[in-house]
Amino acid sequence: LWCQVLERLQLELSRPTFETWIKTASAEQLENNCLVISTPNLFARNWLQKYYINTIARVVQDILGVPVEIYITVAQGDEVSPLDKQEVGWELPAVNPVTSNVAKNQQKSTDLNSKYVFSRFVVGANNRMAHAASLAVAEYPGREFNPLFLCGGVGLGKTHLMQAIGNYRWEIYPDSKIFYVSTEQFTNDLITAIRNDSMQSFREHYRAADILLVDDIQFLEGKEYTQEEFFHTFNTLHEAGKQVVIASDRPPKQIPSLQERLCSRFSMGLIADIQPPDLETRMAILQKKAEYENIRLPRDVIEYIAYNYTSNIRELEGALIRALAYISIWGLPMTVENITPVLGTHSQKMEATPEVILNVVADFFNLSIEDLKGNSRRREISWARQIGMYLMRQYTGLSLPRIGEEFGGKDHTTVMYSCEKIKQLQETDRTLTQTLRQLSDRININSRYQK
Ligand code: ADP
Ligand code: MG
Repeated sequence: LWCQVLERLQLELSRPTFETWIKTASAEQLENNCLVISTPNLFARNWLQKYYINTIARVVQDILGVPVEIYITVAQGDEVSPLDKQEVGWELPAVNPVTSNVAKNQQKSTDLNSKYVFSRFVVGANNRMAHAASLAVAEYPGREFNPLFLCGGVGLGKTHLMQAIGNYRWEIYPDSKIFYVSTEQFTNDLITAIRNDSMQSFREHYRAADILLVDDIQFLEGKEYTQEEFFHTFNTLHEAGKQVVIASDRPPKQIPSLQERLCSRFSMGLIADIQPPDLETRMAILQKKAEYENIRLPRDVIEYIAYNYTSNIRELEGALIRALAYISIWGLPMTVENITPVLGTHSQKMEATPEVILNVVADFFNLSIEDLKGNSRRREISWARQIGMYLMRQYTGLSLPRIGEEFGGKDHTTVMYSCEKIKQLQETDRTLTQTLRQLSDRININSRYQK
């Protein structure tokens, strides 16, 4: 079979690709419609996994006439070279080589990152429920919320909360068996167990957990065999009153090809979702992060970063780190002006002066600039004012208090809420989006004339 597969792949893929990645791999095992392919090193494994697994699956399916699950592993006995580790660093999910066998897992819990603790987690409206549920589970595992299913988009704190549960427990009961495992690692361990004929110890290992934390369960998609095994692991633990916590980037119902029975198991306890954080929460996260790094950040810098990174806390933190690095390399004071080059969100945008924005907005809504700067609460006026504040924020990168001044001495919180409101509304409100586009055009034209 493998020879046939190779022939077909040779036709489909470019020569260098084939020579480098495919020829060096070999078929290890075919069983239960599950083909294990082994590669010489971790780098090759990740590369195949990332770019060629679909092609291989298609070819194998063509030849066999049935769908086959493909698992790509690293040939046993091969040490992971430092180079591999390094190169794998880019954005691929951390993949444990399959050689990380069950025995090695036994002495862990060190899998828990000690940074991921409750005290470092900022609670906001977006994650209050998930946080409360996690805390409850940490205090009373196996009781109310079992399983606890955390779901939310990338970089919103699922792994953090999950590991916080583990760390919390660990601190009180260092002897308890707390296993944190990615779905991918669970799968890999399973494959290893099948291959080494050690299913018994695989099962004993996972089913001995006091708390099992399983991350990124959406990767169960399409893995029938792993789903099967996980189902039994889950049941055993659940029946024994052991806590299971699951994280996923979407709710169980939206994981394609997830077995119905798993879906209903996952929904048995509590499904807590995490939404993107609002501006205040983002600011609080940056503030907290800075405190841990022992850095004092000016308020407008925090605002500026928080304002520009809205949907992913990992990116938000990344932006702060980039800004800090830049400032320290160049020995600059920490100001909004100094960090814009590395954050770059505004730098691609046209710049405009506050005057231009006030003029354009007043003109567009048939109001006077005095109206915008004044205190009238008339609907049309305060609406125009909010849009004006939002645009000024977009175009000038001025701090909130400065924008407040431009609008006749409004409080910075007023400005902040206006900006947030418009920003959120425009995601759903088509008319507003159009209005903003028209206003932007006019601002751009006016700015050009000014220069
Ligand atoms: P996910 O698993 O949902 O993709 P992570 O848990 O890995 O996200 O979180 C990404 C980063 O953001 C981590 O460094 C985490 O510590 C941080 N983070 C997420 N949410 C919060 C929060 N509410 N407070 C503080 N840090 C957070
Ligand atoms: Mg995660």
